[in-house]
Amino acid sequence: MSNLDRQATPSVCGGRGFVVAEPVRELLAPRHVQLGGSTEVRRLLPNLGRRMVGAWAFVDHYGPDDIADEPGMQVPPHPHMGLQTVSWLHEGEVLHRDSLGSLQTVRPRELALMTSGRAISHSEESPKEHARLLHGAQLWVALPDAHRNVEPHFQHHADLPVVTAPGLSATVILGELDGAASPGTAYTPIVGADLSLTGGARTRLPLDPDFEYAVLSMSGEAEVDGVPVLPGSMLYLGCGRTELPLRAHSDAGLMLLGGEPFEEELVMFWNFIARSGEEIVQARKDWEEGSRFGEVQGYDGARLSAPELPATPLKPRGRVR
Ligand code: MN
Repeated sequence: MSNLDRQATPSVCGGRGFVVAEPVRELLAPRHVQLGGSTEVRRLLPNLGRRMVGAWAFVDHYGPDDIADEPGMQVPPHPHMGLQTVSWLHEGEVLHRDSLGSLQTVRPRELALMTSGRAISHSEESPKEHARLLHGAQLWVALPDAHRNVEPHFQHHADLPVVTAPGLSATVILGELDGAASPGTAYTPIVGADLSLTGGARTRLPLDPDFEYAVLSMSGEAEVDGVPVLPGSMLYLGCGRTELPLRAHSDAGLMLLGGEPFEEELVMFWNFIARSGEEIVQARKDWEEGSRFGEVQGYDGARLSAPELPATPLKPRGRVR
């Protein structure tokens, strides 16, 4: 998915400034953002109070939306740089096309992991014949400096490892959880897991005390470390935890996001993650001129054009907002 916000503002993130070294319970409210067509998403990251969780730098939750008589998701070709995109569905399907020639239908609890490296472009759409409901999350992972110029590649994994406990089924999306590792390529110590809880479940999830974590609620009624987290909200948990108490009052779907705090400072603008304003200006220019980011074949429609740059130059401004 793309950041379709036409009033795109640059944000500076990364660094230790936002990391909480101890366990906390900080509820993040979503910002409602209108995407193309009828799709509205709830944006959890970047958030006014928090930019990143580990290397997770962007989290949108959308649906469940009834798209039976609608085109559904229609995100035209757009570029990415310096990040990985993770498409994660609970309902429906999304057709992914990219400038490498990938053409992949993504279904619930399958990992679509696109590593942009230095440059890629892609589109995402609901197939013409699609399920009634569309429900999912779109996430970005920042690439560390040592790997941010890797060759772009796309991975699709339909068969991910699952960790189970009474009342809990956890699908490992990225990184490792309780000894089970995702086949998706990760470039920083990170974890992403999809947690399905059955109503009445009480369980504890093993965590790494060196990671910071957050839990996004996708559906149902659940408590995370005693805090009720409603669908579309996210609870930031800080570092220093060895386990996480979970409780479900109904069947519930959560996403656990965590990782080693991301030390590098970043400049994010539109669909790009860079280290300087100059890199952003160049990437925007390259996309507008049709160079570097390749071409997406087969999408029925025009590609996205980049939003205007802000009047003030984009500068890395240190760790504070
Ligand atoms: Mn995208």
